[in-house]
Amino acid sequence: MEIQDMLVKALVGFDNKRERSQQTEIGVSSVGGCRRQVYFQLHNEPKVNQTLRLPSIMGTALHGHIEKALTHYDFGRFDLEIEVEFEGLKGHVDCYIPSEGAVIDWKTTKKSSLAKFPDNQQRWQVQLYGYLLSKTDRKIETVSLVAIARDGDERHILVHTEKYDEEIAKEALVWLKEVKEMTEAPPAERSAYQFCKHYCVYYGDNCQGKGR
Ligand code: SF4
Repeated sequence: MEIQDMLVKALVGFDNKRERSQQTEIGVSSVGGCRRQVYFQLHNEPKVNQTLRLPSIMGTALHGHIEKALTHYDFGRFDLEIEVEFEGLKGHVDCYIPSEGAVIDWKTTKKSSLAKFPDNQQRWQVQLYGYLLSKTDRKIETVSLVAIARDGDERHILVHTEKYDEEIAKEALVWLKEVKEMTEAPPAERSAYQFCKHYCVYYGDNCQGKGR
Protein backbone atom coordinates (compact mmCIF):
# COMPACT_ATOMS: atom_id res chain seq x y z
CA MET A 1 0.00 0.00 0.00
CA GLU A 2 1.18 3.50 -0.82
CA ILE A 3 2.15 5.35 2.35
CA GLN A 4 0.13 8.44 1.35
CA ASP A 5 -3.00 6.29 0.80
CA MET A 6 -2.48 4.53 4.10
CA LEU A 7 -2.15 7.82 5.98
CA VAL A 8 -5.16 9.50 4.34
CA LYS A 9 -7.37 6.40 4.70
CA ALA A 10 -6.51 6.09 8.37
CA LEU A 11 -7.08 9.79 9.13
CA VAL A 12 -10.34 10.05 7.17
CA GLY A 13 -11.66 6.69 8.48
CA PHE A 14 -10.93 7.71 12.05
CA ASP A 15 -12.54 11.12 11.52
CA ASN A 16 -15.66 9.47 10.02
CA LYS A 17 -16.23 7.68 13.30
CA ARG A 18 -16.43 10.89 15.23
CA GLU A 19 -19.89 12.09 16.13
CA ARG A 20 -19.34 15.54 14.67
CA SER A 21 -18.50 14.14 11.22
CA GLN A 22 -21.70 12.15 11.21
CA GLN A 23 -23.95 14.88 12.56
CA THR A 24 -26.99 15.62 10.42
CA GLU A 25 -28.43 18.56 12.39
CA ILE A 26 -27.48 22.04 11.30
CA GLY A 27 -24.37 22.99 13.20
CA VAL A 28 -23.75 26.51 14.45
CA SER A 29 -20.71 26.78 12.16
CA SER A 30 -22.90 26.41 9.04
CA VAL A 31 -25.03 29.45 9.86
CA GLY A 32 -24.11 32.42 7.67
CA GLY A 33 -22.31 30.28 5.09
CA CYS A 34 -23.84 29.10 1.82
CA ARG A 35 -27.65 29.08 2.03
CA ARG A 36 -27.87 26.50 -0.75
CA GLN A 37 -25.59 24.13 1.19
CA VAL A 38 -27.67 24.48 4.36
CA TYR A 39 -30.86 24.00 2.32
CA PHE A 40 -29.43 20.77 0.85
CA GLN A 41 -28.48 19.58 4.34
CA LEU A 42 -31.97 20.32 5.68
CA HIS A 43 -33.48 18.37 2.78
CA ASN A 44 -31.12 15.37 3.10
CA GLU A 45 -29.67 15.89 -0.36
CA PRO A 46 -27.25 13.05 -1.18
CA LYS A 47 -23.60 13.87 -0.57
CA VAL A 48 -21.95 13.30 -3.93
CA ASN A 49 -18.55 14.96 -3.72
CA GLN A 50 -15.50 13.50 -2.07
CA THR A 51 -14.06 16.53 -0.33
CA LEU A 52 -10.57 17.23 0.96
CA ARG A 53 -10.45 16.49 4.65
CA LEU A 54 -6.96 17.13 5.93
CA PRO A 55 -7.45 20.81 6.91
CA SER A 56 -10.44 19.98 9.13
CA ILE A 57 -8.69 16.89 10.53
CA MET A 58 -5.70 19.05 11.47
CA GLY A 59 -8.11 21.53 13.04
CA THR A 60 -9.74 18.77 15.08
CA ALA A 61 -6.36 17.48 16.20
CA LEU A 62 -5.27 20.93 17.33
CA HIS A 63 -8.56 21.44 19.21
CA GLY A 64 -7.96 18.16 21.06
CA HIS A 65 -4.40 19.17 21.85
CA ILE A 66 -5.46 22.58 23.18
CA GLU A 67 -8.11 20.91 25.34
CA LYS A 68 -5.53 18.54 26.83
CA ALA A 69 -3.02 21.34 27.32
CA LEU A 70 -5.52 23.60 29.11
CA THR A 71 -6.64 20.70 31.31
CA HIS A 72 -3.05 19.79 32.10
CA TYR A 73 -2.15 23.40 32.93
CA ASP A 74 -5.09 23.43 35.32
CA PHE A 75 -6.14 27.03 35.43
CA GLY A 76 -9.08 25.60 37.32
CA ARG A 77 -11.56 27.96 35.80
CA PHE A 78 -12.32 26.64 32.34
CA ASP A 79 -15.17 24.59 30.95
CA LEU A 80 -13.99 22.91 27.78
CA GLU A 81 -15.76 21.35 24.78
CA ILE A 82 -19.28 22.03 26.02
CA GLU A 83 -22.02 20.52 23.88
CA VAL A 84 -24.86 22.99 23.43
CA GLU A 85 -28.23 22.59 21.76
CA PHE A 86 -31.24 24.88 21.59
CA GLU A 87 -34.23 24.69 19.24
CA GLY A 88 -32.53 22.19 16.92
CA LEU A 89 -29.28 24.13 16.63
CA LYS A 90 -26.22 22.23 17.85
CA GLY A 91 -22.64 23.12 18.56
CA HIS A 92 -19.54 22.56 20.66
CA VAL A 93 -18.16 25.48 22.60
CA ASP A 94 -14.38 25.17 22.75
CA CYS A 95 -13.80 27.09 25.96
CA TYR A 96 -15.86 29.02 28.49
CA ILE A 97 -14.40 30.93 31.44
CA PRO A 98 -17.19 31.17 34.05
CA SER A 99 -15.59 33.88 36.20
CA GLU A 100 -15.30 36.21 33.19
CA GLY A 101 -18.37 35.11 31.26
CA ALA A 102 -16.02 34.60 28.32
CA VAL A 103 -16.68 32.32 25.37
CA ILE A 104 -13.67 31.33 23.23
CA ASP A 105 -13.60 29.59 19.86
CA TRP A 106 -10.30 28.34 18.35
CA LYS A 107 -10.10 28.68 14.58
CA THR A 108 -7.41 26.90 12.62
CA THR A 109 -6.65 28.74 9.41
CA LYS A 110 -3.88 29.73 7.00
CA LYS A 111 -1.67 32.81 7.17
CA SER A 112 -3.17 33.97 3.85
CA SER A 113 -6.65 34.02 5.43
CA LEU A 114 -5.68 36.13 8.46
CA ALA A 115 -6.31 39.40 6.62
CA LYS A 116 -10.01 38.56 6.41
CA PHE A 117 -10.29 37.32 10.00
CA PRO A 118 -12.85 37.33 11.47
CA ASP A 119 -15.53 37.14 8.82
CA ASN A 120 -19.23 37.62 9.50
CA GLN A 121 -19.93 33.88 9.61
CA GLN A 122 -17.29 33.41 12.34
CA ARG A 123 -18.67 36.33 14.36
CA TRP A 124 -22.21 34.94 14.11
CA GLN A 125 -20.90 31.52 15.14
CA VAL A 126 -19.27 32.69 18.35
CA GLN A 127 -22.19 35.00 19.21
CA LEU A 128 -24.51 32.00 18.71
CA TYR A 129 -22.36 29.98 21.11
CA GLY A 130 -22.82 32.77 23.62
CA TYR A 131 -26.58 32.68 22.99
CA LEU A 132 -26.83 28.89 23.36
CA LEU A 133 -24.74 28.98 26.54
CA SER A 134 -26.89 31.78 27.95
CA LYS A 135 -29.84 29.37 27.66
CA THR A 136 -28.08 27.15 30.20
CA ASP A 137 -28.06 29.98 32.74
CA ARG A 138 -24.43 30.83 32.22
CA LYS A 139 -23.36 34.46 32.39
CA ILE A 140 -22.00 35.68 29.03
CA GLU A 141 -20.01 38.93 28.78
CA THR A 142 -17.62 38.54 25.86
CA VAL A 143 -17.05 36.26 22.89
CA SER A 144 -13.61 35.67 21.34
CA LEU A 145 -12.32 34.09 18.16
CA VAL A 146 -8.71 32.95 18.13
CA ALA A 147 -7.10 32.34 14.72
CA ILE A 148 -4.21 29.87 14.70
CA ALA A 149 -2.47 29.54 11.35
CA ARG A 150 -1.50 25.97 10.43
CA ASP A 151 1.42 27.35 8.44
CA GLY A 152 2.37 29.97 11.03
CA ASP A 153 3.80 30.22 14.53
CA GLU A 154 3.03 32.06 17.79
CA ARG A 155 3.50 35.43 16.10
CA HIS A 156 0.57 34.76 13.79
CA ILE A 157 -2.05 34.04 16.47
CA LEU A 158 -4.84 36.62 16.17
CA VAL A 159 -7.47 37.21 18.86
CA HIS A 160 -10.71 39.02 18.15
CA THR A 161 -12.90 39.82 21.18
CA GLU A 162 -16.24 41.59 21.20
CA LYS A 163 -19.06 42.06 23.68
CA TYR A 164 -21.70 39.39 23.68
CA ASP A 165 -24.74 40.80 21.88
CA GLU A 166 -27.91 38.76 21.82
CA GLU A 167 -29.20 40.83 18.87
CA ILE A 168 -26.31 39.61 16.67
CA ALA A 169 -27.12 36.00 17.60
CA LYS A 170 -30.76 36.65 16.73
CA GLU A 171 -29.75 37.99 13.28
CA ALA A 172 -28.03 34.65 12.70
CA LEU A 173 -31.14 32.78 13.84
CA VAL A 174 -33.29 34.79 11.42
CA TRP A 175 -30.89 33.80 8.59
CA LEU A 176 -31.38 30.12 9.50
CA LYS A 177 -35.15 30.48 9.84
CA GLU A 178 -35.34 32.02 6.37
CA VAL A 179 -33.42 29.08 4.86
CA LYS A 180 -35.69 26.64 6.70
CA GLU A 181 -38.75 28.34 5.22
CA MET A 182 -37.50 28.20 1.63
CA THR A 183 -39.48 25.95 -0.67
CA GLU A 184 -36.78 25.65 -3.31
CA ALA A 185 -33.00 25.66 -3.22
CA PRO A 186 -31.50 29.18 -3.23
CA PRO A 187 -28.71 30.11 -5.69
CA ALA A 188 -25.09 29.01 -5.29
CA GLU A 189 -23.10 31.37 -3.08
CA ARG A 190 -19.56 29.97 -2.97
CA SER A 191 -16.76 29.97 -5.50
CA ALA A 192 -16.67 26.75 -7.53
CA TYR A 193 -12.92 26.29 -7.75
CA GLN A 194 -11.77 28.04 -4.60
CA PHE A 195 -14.24 26.28 -2.31
CA CYS A 196 -17.02 24.04 -3.67
CA LYS A 197 -15.00 21.54 -5.68
CA HIS A 198 -12.76 20.71 -2.74
CA TYR A 199 -14.89 21.39 0.33
CA CYS A 200 -18.61 20.98 -0.43
CA VAL A 201 -20.16 17.51 -0.37
CA TYR A 202 -22.99 18.71 -2.64
CA TYR A 203 -20.75 19.89 -5.48
CA GLY A 204 -21.82 17.96 -8.58
CA ASP A 205 -24.88 17.75 -10.81
CA ASN A 206 -27.09 19.67 -8.35
CA CYS A 207 -24.66 22.49 -7.77
CA GLN A 208 -21.66 23.69 -9.73
CA GLY A 209 -20.87 26.56 -7.38
CA LYS A 210 -20.54 30.15 -8.46
CA GLY A 211 -18.03 31.43 -11.04
CA ARG A 212 -14.47 30.48 -10.22
S1 SF4 B 1 -21.36 23.50 -4.18
FE1 SF4 B 1 -20.81 25.54 -3.40
S2 SF4 B 1 -22.50 26.88 -3.97
FE2 SF4 B 1 -23.20 24.75 -4.15
S3 SF4 B 1 -24.14 24.27 -2.20
FE3 SF4 B 1 -22.02 23.67 -2.05
S4 SF4 B 1 -20.98 25.46 -1.16
FE4 SF4 B 1 -22.95 26.16 -1.92
